[in-house]
Amino acid sequence: MNGIIYKIERLAVYDGPGIRTVIFLKGCPLSCIWCASPESQKRTPETGFWQDKCTGCGSCLDVCPAAAVTKDLKSNIIYDHKKCQNCGQCTPCLSGARKTIGKKFSVGDVVRELEKDSVFYHRSTGGITLSGGDPVFQPIFSAGILKKAVEMGFHTAMETCAHAEWNLFKGMLEHLDLIYVDIKHMNRHEHKKLTGKTNGVILENIQQMDTHFPNLEKIVRVPIIPGKNDSKENIDQTAKFARGLKTLKRVELLPYHRYGVATYPVVGKKYQLTQMDSPNRIDVEALMKRMTNQGIRVQIGG
Ligand code: SF4
Ligand code: SF4
Repeated sequence: MNGIIYKIERLAVYDGPGIRTVIFLKGCPLSCIWCASPESQKRTPETGFWQDKCTGCGSCLDVCPAAAVTKDLKSNIIYDHKKCQNCGQCTPCLSGARKTIGKKFSVGDVVRELEKDSVFYHRSTGGITLSGGDPVFQPIFSAGILKKAVEMGFHTAMETCAHAEWNLFKGMLEHLDLIYVDIKHMNRHEHKKLTGKTNGVILENIQQMDTHFPNLEKIVRVPIIPGKNDSKENIDQTAKFARGLKTLKRVELLPYHRYGVATYPVVGKKYQLTQMDSPNRIDVEALMKRMTNQGIRVQIGG
């Protein structure tokens, strides 16, 4: 069983207890306008171009069969992402300006990566976290990795938007100790405007998970995007939904940040929220207090 992974972070100390290996799978069913990892959205491997590292040597221009690379009048290398066939003939570039993002792994390959750090997991009660992109976009591969990790005695966690068919989602939940699941907006139309998809499947899956997986540790994450989903009405709706979940551990409010902005041109995408700043701490604390007053356990940050 194979899948596409674009990054593996070893010895991580976030997104779960202890020391962890975080596996970033490629592809996501949503396309949030604030996405911090635009290179993760597409399911297949793609060629990234870091213009600032390019020395203009022209090697990629010479080999490209698709005329995706040209030179402008000032001899700067211009890369047309739309023409690129991702054939890989121009990568790796010696300057590191051109790389293929995403690589095929088998479950066995991932297991070998995990084995490198297994001693740390056991000492720290750590393990593996599936992230992305979104693991639900490669559900069979994700379930295969998680199953193996459980057999090896590792703690398992997953970060997800939960936009998946229930049976496939369930196949992953069966091998999980901890899940971080996002709620980006409670209004289905607003959710579609912000992410490209409505939220019905997501909310239904969270409720099903609450009913059928009572022992799974569940944390709801709410990204706080100023002017987009931080209205009192949406926060109250989110709190009401969270209050209806019997086995939810807590809600985490994640303030908007701009970490991924520089990666948009690398994969030929345009960042939409060019004028947006991170929310100030006092405003986020007010949202936390508002939810806490409605009986929810809330923290700021993950
Ligand atoms: S091979 Fe690399 S350094 Fe040379 S022109 Fe292409 S991207 Fe630039
Ligand atoms: S990956 Fe292939 S098609 Fe794309 S720019 Fe490089 S050589 Fe051209």
